[in-house]
Amino acid sequence: MSIEKTTDPAAALHFLEEIVESDLAAGRYKSILTRFPPEPNGYLHIGHATSICLNFGLALKYGGATNLRFDDTNPVTEETEYVDSIISDVCWLGFEPARILYASDYFQQLYDWAKVLIMNGKAYVDFSSAEEIAALKGTPTEAGKDSPYRNTSPEENLALFEKMKAGEFPDGHCVLRAKIDMASPNMIMRDPLLYRIKHAHHHRTGDAWCIYPMYDWAHGQSDSIEHITHSICTLEFAPHRELYDWCIAQLGIFPSKQYEFARRNVSFAVTSKRKLKQLVEDGHVRGWDDPRMPTISGYRRRGYTPASIREFCDRIGVGKREMVADMALLEFCIREDLNKSSLRRFAVLDPLKVVITNYPEGETEWLETENNPEDPGTGKRQLAFGREIFIEQDDFMENPPPKYFRLSPGGLVRLKSAYIIKCEEVIKDAAGKITELHCSYVPESRSGQDTSGLKPQGVIHWLSASNARKAEVRLYDRLFQVEDPASEEDFKSTLNPKSLQIIDHALIEPDLADAKSGEQFQFTRLGYFCVDPDGTAEKPVFNRTVTLKDTWAKEMKK
Ligand code: ATP
Ligand code: MG
Repeated sequence: MSIEKTTDPAAALHFLEEIVESDLAAGRYKSILTRFPPEPNGYLHIGHATSICLNFGLALKYGGATNLRFDDTNPVTEETEYVDSIISDVCWLGFEPARILYASDYFQQLYDWAKVLIMNGKAYVDFSSAEEIAALKGTPTEAGKDSPYRNTSPEENLALFEKMKAGEFPDGHCVLRAKIDMASPNMIMRDPLLYRIKHAHHHRTGDAWCIYPMYDWAHGQSDSIEHITHSICTLEFAPHRELYDWCIAQLGIFPSKQYEFARRNVSFAVTSKRKLKQLVEDGHVRGWDDPRMPTISGYRRRGYTPASIREFCDRIGVGKREMVADMALLEFCIREDLNKSSLRRFAVLDPLKVVITNYPEGETEWLETENNPEDPGTGKRQLAFGREIFIEQDDFMENPPPKYFRLSPGGLVRLKSAYIIKCEEVIKDAAGKITELHCSYVPESRSGQDTSGLKPQGVIHWLSASNARKAEVRLYDRLFQVEDPASEEDFKSTLNPKSLQIIDHALIEPDLADAKSGEQFQFTRLGYFCVDPDGTAEKPVFNRTVTLKDTWAKEMKK
């Protein structure tokens, strides 16, 4: 019996697509406008990528547009460097913001609207301390109590608010609060804070302001100013929706609507800018774009493609329940992509010299091999072959276990796209360390023209000593040793001390030395690699993006 596949396209819609489709069908909007609203207090991470794909994806699917809006209302933690990195990350992912905007551009409007609230008796200046405010807030089951400042007249509040803005009070001296309902079952509605005093320099508005709007006052109004139709945020903002609607209703402005979806996190990673910043500042990684970081810039430097990250976001989908995606899925997506697109090359990470004793000295022949069997259009290339070659140390064992198919004393192995060789002699130094192998080759076993009748089981990669070039290769492992580092008391205590392995004596095919930063290759049998910007012409540097197979998952299952 076969399971029938559903052909109903509507069945594949996620809940936000359903909402958008019904809004469009009901004629509520002519077209939709979404926004991605990062706070520029760090570099974007893989969790943000899911939000970017969701917001831009909806607009693309339904013919709308998406604004990139910086939620830059906290001058203390925000920097221009982060703004620049966020713009470049969003564009690199393949999305084009309709407009790039800043909540700070709305500071005057937000201030004017706050005065409207005050004059309507819907906001007041409160001189209580943070502790006093908290103490009067009540509990989920118990109503809060009124602040002694709750019934100040609108005129007096207006004068006080203007003083706040004029810089007449120090930080924390007072706040502006909405006057809503201290008995509301929704704690967020118990006279939420709208403005706080912060005498701090802002990366865009400089010293023009010393009062800054809270998220709840800035976000919905910014959405409304831009006529955002669907304002999508993560679940923890669900209780804020009532306040979001209240503010818009008080002002009678464009009714943007807030919808919530569940955060997406990735195993073996932390997705919090604050935590990632600690890793950078404490020197646990080389920077925000360290290839081990779950930041978009880290993945880019590691060799992930925009398509692989979009595919990952697509596969984990959109939902209402928090989920931790398996990092193996992300690795699967990049393998799928690079398998199709990347050129194959040989590299030897840990070289062992092999002298082919029956091959004429000083002679070089050229052997043909495919650039990418998945894409015959990429053609073939020529490999130099001669008397001295290098193979991986790992591909030789002096005392092999049964079923070892690579090279061992007296054994045969095929050199990929070349000849079959036999190990005749193992040469060691005084300390007993293997320094080279002496092998013979079978002249009639040339790949494609093999008449030898020999069938060695193993095939290994190799490089000619005559033209191999040196390179540094960086191998990466999980940055954390546990699946959910954020749940640990000190997430940094779970860092993997072996997350970076630098190999400074690797060998590569000669044309790889001219590859440009970011170019990607499959090193046969070793994985996918990309050129790191750290490299020079003399010493190119390659990052391993991902291994060819999911060896980690297999090891974990053992
Ligand atoms: P962080 O703790 O990393 O700073 P944040 O939510 O405070 O996260 P913002 O810059 O405010 O970061 O986020 C911009 C947008 O990205 C928001 O709409 C937010 O909800 C969304 N976002 C952030 N992290 C995730 C995540 N892990 N999964 C899905 N969306 C996320
Ligand atoms: Mg935040």
